[in-house]
Amino acid sequence: MKTTPPLIEDLARRFSTKLLLKQELNLSEHRFQYLIAHQLIERVPGISSTLNFHQCNRCLNKNQILFGKIPQPNSKPIIYCKKCIQMGRVSTKEPLYRWTGPMPMRHNVANPLKWRGILTPLQEKASLKMVEAVNNQSNLLIYAVCGAGKTEMLYAGIQEAIKQDKRVCIATPRADVVRELAPRLRRDFPTIHSAALYGGSTERDLNNHLVIATTHQLLRYENSFDIMVVDEVDAFPYHRDKTLPKAVTRASKPNSTQIYLTATPRRSHKVQIATKQMPTVSIPSRYHGHPIPTPTFQAILRLNDSLEKDKIPTKITHWINEKQTNNRRFLLFAPTIQLAESLAEKLDMPYVHAESPDREYLIKQFRARNFESLITTTILERGVTFPSIDVAVIQADHHVFDEAALIQIAGRAGRSANDPTGDVTFFYEYKTNAMIQARNYTIIKNKEAKRCTV
Ligand SMILES: [Zn+2]
Repeated sequence: MKTTPPLIEDLARRFSTKLLLKQELNLSEHRFQYLIAHQLIERVPGISSTLNFHQCNRCLNKNQILFGKIPQPNSKPIIYCKKCIQMGRVSTKEPLYRWTGPMPMRHNVANPLKWRGILTPLQEKASLKMVEAVNNQSNLLIYAVCGAGKTEMLYAGIQEAIKQDKRVCIATPRADVVRELAPRLRRDFPTIHSAALYGGSTERDLNNHLVIATTHQLLRYENSFDIMVVDEVDAFPYHRDKTLPKAVTRASKPNSTQIYLTATPRRSHKVQIATKQMPTVSIPSRYHGHPIPTPTFQAILRLNDSLEKDKIPTKITHWINEKQTNNRRFLLFAPTIQLAESLAEKLDMPYVHAESPDREYLIKQFRARNFESLITTTILERGVTFPSIDVAVIQADHHVFDEAALIQIAGRAGRSANDPTGDVTFFYEYKTNAMIQARNYTIIKNKEAKRCTV
């Protein structure tokens, strides 16, 4: 077997199966020129352009409004992509680079899984289906309610893939979910190398066995993963942004296994499930066997007016007082940052939203039980698990709370086997279809779960 010099092996680990900007290569000019001259890396146009049509080759954006122009004296303007500019500018003058040298080696790990928990029969069924999908290079949709224990269902499949020296990616739309999943997976697979990638993370993927990443981070990959697990496949921004599914496909190898996880499938997946186009395994019950809490509706007259005038209706303050008296921890969901801010001020509670600079810190503090309540926008609607909490939604009739969001929010309660019940209350002025559908979903899933255990 041909041996690669250690330096080339090291560079191969850093660059292979990625599309990177020159500054992301982080090489001295001398070394960079050496790699180009020896055809170890090649240039890929950052933007493909014909007369008036541009496409970004990193984020696959084709929306012409999202391209900018930098005028140049005596030559054509530079075209750049605005859509993915946060990841560093890609333009007609700033190409991407692809590794064309030898592929890096990975060490086989015989039995990486150290988790010794026991799966429920339904979890076991999903777990076996995933192992089958890994072995057959086929796809699978795992349709499991919030609290079904989805992560543990993936373990046998991940173990099987790693044994076969395959590379696994768990992609999720939310950075908070990456931060929650990575430590669990590292605890349960302690002998493999992994990387947790999200905007602002300092970790690097050196051709690791396992990558846990936001779907956005996959814009830097091509033909990289044998197993692609897309968690929360129905979540924003993945389900709204047409380029992200394409990026996930590009980041996967041609004969890869795709595993999709969802508790609240959107219409396209529902159609695929109903018409059996997508092999699906359905898990209607939680891992601890207790029902999902059914939301309670609390109508409040002139709720919207009161909140606009910075007044918190007594029904809401009663709910909060009752929780505080009974030492119950809780999350209060608000539809907008402004309302979250004003509630936080009035109630003297911490709050988080997508732009909070201290969001990671506050979530950690809440998880560590350093305070008892947290106000949040929909950023904490899914993926995160706090063991013993109740939840209330303020203005549950607001348009940001669609059926999926309300189901996910309700799914935060009663997650612990030691405290499996939880209170979910929707405060509203006008009842919406989304609220009714969310409640119906809970009732239907609880009935299905009962039938599975009979
Ligand atoms: Zn782009």
